[in-house]
Amino acid sequence: MSAIDLPSPSDRIDPDTPGSVADRLLSWYDRSRRRLPWRSDPGHRPDPYHVWLSEIMLQQTTVATVGPYFQKFLEKWPTVEALAEAPLDDVLHAWAGLGYYARARNLHKCAQTVAVDHAGVFPETEEALLTLPGIGRYTAAAVAAIAFGRRAVVVDGNVERVMARLFRVTKPLPDSKPALTALADTCTPTERAGDYAQAVMDIGATVCTPKRPKCTICPIVDLCLGRDIAEDLPARKPKPTKPTRRGVAFWIVRPDGAVLFRRRPESGLLGGMMEPPSSDWVTEGVPDPTPPVAVIERVPLTGMVRHTFTHFHLELDVHHCRTDAGTVAPDEGRWVLPDRFGDLALPTVMKKIVRHAMKGR
Ligand code: SF4
Repeated sequence: MSAIDLPSPSDRIDPDTPGSVADRLLSWYDRSRRRLPWRSDPGHRPDPYHVWLSEIMLQQTTVATVGPYFQKFLEKWPTVEALAEAPLDDVLHAWAGLGYYARARNLHKCAQTVAVDHAGVFPETEEALLTLPGIGRYTAAAVAAIAFGRRAVVVDGNVERVMARLFRVTKPLPDSKPALTALADTCTPTERAGDYAQAVMDIGATVCTPKRPKCTICPIVDLCLGRDIAEDLPARKPKPTKPTRRGVAFWIVRPDGAVLFRRRPESGLLGGMMEPPSSDWVTEGVPDPTPPVAVIERVPLTGMVRHTFTHFHLELDVHHCRTDAGTVAPDEGRWVLPDRFGDLALPTVMKKIVRHAMKGR
């Protein structure tokens, strides 16, 4: 039986009825929730700045990874106004290691918008939150519910998994997303919406886990229709294989040891981040690009740098180049001595290039 065929309404899904999914998850949350640095105690409203910051950091990253970053950001920038006033490079630098730098750029933009257009106060409704940079449907719902106690349907991967199992939704993702969201809606209570949102996420993260769910200690086990096939849910359509792109990165060294770095264009992948200049990354053919400045020697290094992005694999050859002392850096470029490399906001793939080039000299 699929979720959509469920008889409704019933006290199984009426969120405000004692014994309902929401009622049980809230009781469980009061006893067994995860203690996380950005959370307040049940029934208390946390600081919206903390909620927003943690939610942006948690997108596609684990709780364990985010913890130290969250603390570091709060120490450096204790308020949204302080974050708004920080230089973008400092924010990108502090973000390095969390990936998806577009999120850090939007985080900074969002802080500036809240500080300037909203007098430092986050708006409370999903609609108003959605107008802020970097806030999509999930984050708007999460902040509205958790920071402001508004009834909002918060659906992340954990919630999708719990709903798919609880209601035995066998249709694969992503086609089942609208149905899973509708089911999450039917379970969401009008009271304690923020605690409820966190309760479902916690159940998904700690009990209804992707592998070997702990059904025997699950507070909704007797309501769950899919526990016998839990590990197969949610079903997913097979992912298309990722293409491989290729390119050449230039490690261009001046006689004094300074190396040429360049800022990537603001829009696009790794926008605004620093890089050793590289060619376009292409799926067809072998690139043979020209370095961005005149060089007097160019030697391809042995081996290559490999990195995997969300949508493609990247393979980069690195060419070690020497240039004259007076060579001027091109637009958006600058010469950096090795003892200053640590000051650069370098994404992971660029750090790999630096390591490869330093090793291969
Ligand atoms: Fe998940 Fe098992 Fe609980 Fe069902 S009973 S919601 S499968 S942990």
